[in-house]
Amino acid sequence: MIVYTIIFNWVCTMIYSLWENFLVIVKEELGSRVVETWFKAVSMTKWDAVGKVVYLQTPNAFICTWLEKNYRSVFQLHLGRLLNVSELKVVFSIHSAEKNNAVLIDANNNKKLPSESENNKRSNKQSAETTFRPAHIITVPKKETFSLKSEEQAGNINKKYIFETFVVGPSNSLAYAAARAVAQKPGDLYNPLFIYGGSGLGKTHLLHAIGNVIQTHNKNALVLYQTADRFVNEFINAIRFDKINLFQKKYHFVDVLLIDDIQFISNKDTTQEAFFHIFNSLYDARKQLVFSSDTFPQSINGIAERLRSRLASGMIADIHQPCIEVKMAILKRKAEENGQSISDDVAHFLASHVTSNIRELEGALIRVLAFAHLTKEPISLNLVKKVFIRDTMNMERVKEIVDLKTVIKAITRHFSYSLEELCSENRNKELAFVRQVAMYIMKKNTDKSLREIGSYLGNRNHTTVKHALSKIETLITQDSALQKQIHVIEREFFK
Ligand code: ADP
Ligand code: MG
Repeated sequence: MIVYTIIFNWVCTMIYSLWENFLVIVKEELGSRVVETWFKAVSMTKWDAVGKVVYLQTPNAFICTWLEKNYRSVFQLHLGRLLNVSELKVVFSIHSAEKNNAVLIDANNNKKLPSESENNKRSNKQSAETTFRPAHIITVPKKETFSLKSEEQAGNINKKYIFETFVVGPSNSLAYAAARAVAQKPGDLYNPLFIYGGSGLGKTHLLHAIGNVIQTHNKNALVLYQTADRFVNEFINAIRFDKINLFQKKYHFVDVLLIDDIQFISNKDTTQEAFFHIFNSLYDARKQLVFSSDTFPQSINGIAERLRSRLASGMIADIHQPCIEVKMAILKRKAEENGQSISDDVAHFLASHVTSNIRELEGALIRVLAFAHLTKEPISLNLVKKVFIRDTMNMERVKEIVDLKTVIKAITRHFSYSLEELCSENRNKELAFVRQVAMYIMKKNTDKSLREIGSYLGNRNHTTVKHALSKIETLITQDSALQKQIHVIEREFFK
C-alpha cells in the first residue's frame, strides 16, 4: 500500500512538473495571453505510456472544441518532446459537470441533438473509461434557464437617445432612414445594418434610438446594446471564470443586437471567432444586427475576412460632418432640451467655431448654458464669445492677448491690493504672497521674462521672481483651493 502511495505521488509530481514545463514552452511560442486564456484552464489527468496517450481535461465544451481545433498539434509536439515519444495521441475531455446540453456536430457541420440512447451510451462509456467525448461538440443553452443580469434587463439602452431628438440633414439622412426602417421592421429589411462615420457624429445615438423604438413596440423583444469593447471584456472574463455557457446563452436569445464601435474587435482573434458564431446564429434566426464603426468594413484592420464580409453583407450607411445649418439646428434643439433658447447669431457663432464634431459642439453649448446660469447673464453673443475664447483658446493664443496689465487688473480685482501696494517694498505676509501669485500667473500666461516681470512689480530682481514661481508651483500641487483660485483669476482676464 505504501509503495503504491509513493508511486502515485511520484506520478502526480511528474505530471505536474511536466505540465508546468509545457506551459512555459507554449508561453514562449504563443504568448502569455493565449496561455492564460486557453491553456491554464486545462489539466493533464492521465498519461498512458504504453498506448502513448495523454488525457487532458477541459472545463467546458467550448474550450475543449477550441483547443482541439486550434492547438492539437501544439499539444502533440511539445508534450511529445517532453515525454520523449513520437506520434503522441491527445485525448480531450470535458469536466463532467459540463456535459449536459451538448449538441453533436456531424461531419457536415450540422447540429444534432444527441438522442437519449446516445446520451446514455455516452455516459455509460464515460463512467467506464476516463471521460471521453466525440470530436466536435458545442453547448446549446436551454431557453428556460436563461435570464439577463438585472442591469442588462433594459438591454443597456439609453432612453435619452431617440429618433425625435436626432436632427436630420444631408450628412446623416441615409443612416437615419436606414435606422428608422430597421426599427420599424427588425430583421426584415436591412440586416445587418452597418453605420459608420467619425467620432461624435451620432452613431451611438442612432443605435440607442433603434433599441428604444423596438422596446416600445415589442415589450417582449430582447434588445441588447453593447460596445465592442465591453463585448471583448465580457468574452475574456467568460473564459477566465469558466462562464462561457452563460455568455453564449446571453447572446443566443437576443432578438436585436446593437454593437457599437465594432472596430475595437480588431486584432482580437479569439473574440472574433466567438462573435462570428453569434453573428451566424442570430442572422440565421433572422434576428436584427446593427453595427457602428469609425470606418467602412473594408477599412477595419485586423479582422478576419469572413467576419468582414458578414459585416458588409447588409446595408451600409455613412455619416459625415454636418453642414453649418444642421449644426445650428442641433444646437437649438439641444438648448431646448435644456429648457433654454438661443438666438441665430449665438448658434451660428458656435457652429462655425466648433468644427470637430457634434459631441464637441454640445459640450461648448453646455459650457455656455452653465456660464449664463452661474453669472445670471442672458445668453448673448458677447457672453458666448467670452466663454468660448476662454475655453477654447490654447496657451499660445492666450499669451498673444494677455499682458502684464491684464494680469494685474485681474489680481487687484480678486485680492484687495492695489498695483502700488504690489510694487511697494511692504513685506506684509499676505501681500508678499499675493505678489508671488501675481508673478506666477504672469509667467504662466504671458511671454514676459523673469526680469521683465520683476521690474514691472517694483524693480525686483529676477531671482526673486524665480523663487516665487517655484514656491507657488509647489504649493498648487498640494493645495487644490489655491489652484482653483488661480483658475478663477485667469478667467477674469476675459471679463
Ligand atoms: P458617435 O457615436 O458617432 O461618436 P454620438 O452618437 O455619441 O456620436 O453623438 C455625440 C453627441 O452628439 C450625442 O449627445 C448625440 O446626441 C449628439 N448628436 C449627434 N448627431 C446628432 C444629430 N444629428 N442630432 C442631434 N444630436 C446629435
Ligand atoms: Mg459612439
